Amino acid sequence: MSRFLSSRFAALEAYTPGEQPQDMEYVKLNTNESPFPPSPEVIAAVSAAEVGKLNLYPDPECKRLRRKLAALYGVGEENVFLSNGSDDILNFFFMAFCDAERPVAFPNISYGFYPVYAQLYNLPATVIPLREDFSLNVEDYCGLHQNIVIANPNAPTGMVIPVSDIEKIVQTNPDHVVLIDEAYVDFGAESCRGLIGQYENLLVCQTFSKSRSMAGGRLGFALGSAGLIADLNKIKYSTNPYNINRLTLVAAEAAVDSDAYYRENCKKIQANRAYTVEELAKLGFTTLPSLANFIFTRCPGMDGGTLYRALKRRGVLVRYWNKPELKDFVRVTIGSREQMDRFLDTVQTILKEG
Ligand code: PMP
Repeated sequence: MSRFLSSRFAALEAYTPGEQPQDMEYVKLNTNESPFPPSPEVIAAVSAAEVGKLNLYPDPECKRLRRKLAALYGVGEENVFLSNGSDDILNFFFMAFCDAERPVAFPNISYGFYPVYAQLYNLPATVIPLREDFSLNVEDYCGLHQNIVIANPNAPTGMVIPVSDIEKIVQTNPDHVVLIDEAYVDFGAESCRGLIGQYENLLVCQTFSKSRSMAGGRLGFALGSAGLIADLNKIKYSTNPYNINRLTLVAAEAAVDSDAYYRENCKKIQANRAYTVEELAKLGFTTLPSLANFIFTRCPGMDGGTLYRALKRRGVLVRYWNKPELKDFVRVTIGSREQMDRFLDTVQTILKEG
């Protein structure tokens, strides 16, 4: 830290993203990316001709892409907001809607970025414990009268709450914004976006990073009432109106047109998830019930850190958290069948070697 950093940020603990090591080729199951490339249409869309237009700014309103997404999800264009990854949308949610009078609540075990944003904006945060089995008690959030952010499916557990529970939370906090982070919704969970026409305080955010194989393109979107979307735009136009680059825009437009390709890939991930959970059970692992493109699993007699290191030495990358309630687990992204077999073989080798 230099002596120039504002004292506001002196105690800030930045988010630690999953490692992206460049030293060797790993079986990379640590940051929930898709193992599948973007669709052929997406690859063709990022053409030399489009690269040739990089001298021009992109459309800050992202009109074509918003129109396509609105049509896909049956909402109005005024209900769609686009930004540079869903992390950017989370950032805007905390910046736009939360303050000392409007604190924010989220579960104690969830996406690690929520407490960072709360700290960044110096917000009073209510951190609500999950039950011991990692399930969320919906009653904890009903009538809370705070802004609320919940990942559904949750990270790093992969567990879900039903849309009917989300509706209860939204209904009973009518004067606060409820953000449902659906980064992982396309792998078998039900989206609550069908509710946005009924509730002006519901914001749903999703991403092109996981189910649409575009983590490197950085694109997230939010669906919500026209009022909430206008508020997010106010923040976007007060920070960085051109926050989605031209190449990402053309890639994303083609991705929306290739919806069938991505739905097929999501089915493959779901099959590989079931397969991996079953094979791990044979080895004595306990895995939480996941509807995401990752699983949270516990090895008998070995803590998460030990397993993580043993896997990494053998070229397989997963993620673990050195926190009391999470330290027995590793989070494993569900990749291709070949990747999962490499992972499972490596786990077996480690177990044999004791
Ligand atoms: N929400 C959750 C729950 C996540 O796990 C992630 C990925 N780390 C994000 C949002 C952000 O994803 P992105 O910025 O790539 O859209």
